[in-house]
Amino acid sequence: MISKRMQDAINAQINAELWSAYLYLSMSMDAADKGLKGVANWFAIQFKEEQDHAQIFINYMQSQGARVELAPIAAVDTEWDSAKAMFEQTLTHEQKVTSLIHNLCAIAAEEKDVATANRLTWFVDEQVEEEESARDILDQLRMVEGNNYGLYMIDKEMAARVYTTPSPLAAKE
Ligand code: MG
Repeated sequence: MISKRMQDAINAQINAELWSAYLYLSMSMDAADKGLKGVANWFAIQFKEEQDHAQIFINYMQSQGARVELAPIAAVDTEWDSAKAMFEQTLTHEQKVTSLIHNLCAIAAEEKDVATANRLTWFVDEQVEEEESARDILDQLRMVEGNNYGLYMIDKEMAARVYTTPSPLAAKE
């Protein structure tokens, strides 16, 4: 049993995760359009991961007998100046998502909702990783700024990223 306040907050987070998915799908399309196949692959995987984040919250709500309500997903940008611009927005966005997750943790604590707090710890750790990977790639892109060969090499590396099912969903398979 989770409180109405907690349910509303999780429903809002489901929308935020799906908005993230939509943002990264859009970046993937634009990267493909720019001939950056590796960057496109990286964001295509990120698109799947964000859908997974929404699914983890949906599964949790359903396991608690709570009602999931899907709200409209707001529009996202469709074009970026460069891969660097994409990762600048990715890092800023993930920092915002981190604060949303931390806010959910604060609500869970106020509601004395230990079960939700436990579920959220996976997301707290995940956000540390999300910010770190966006920051690492952004650092690399800044290092090679103006150097097409450098960008080519980074793109090649990003083509190697493979999707793995996050542990809370893998446990359900
Ligand atoms: Mg997410």
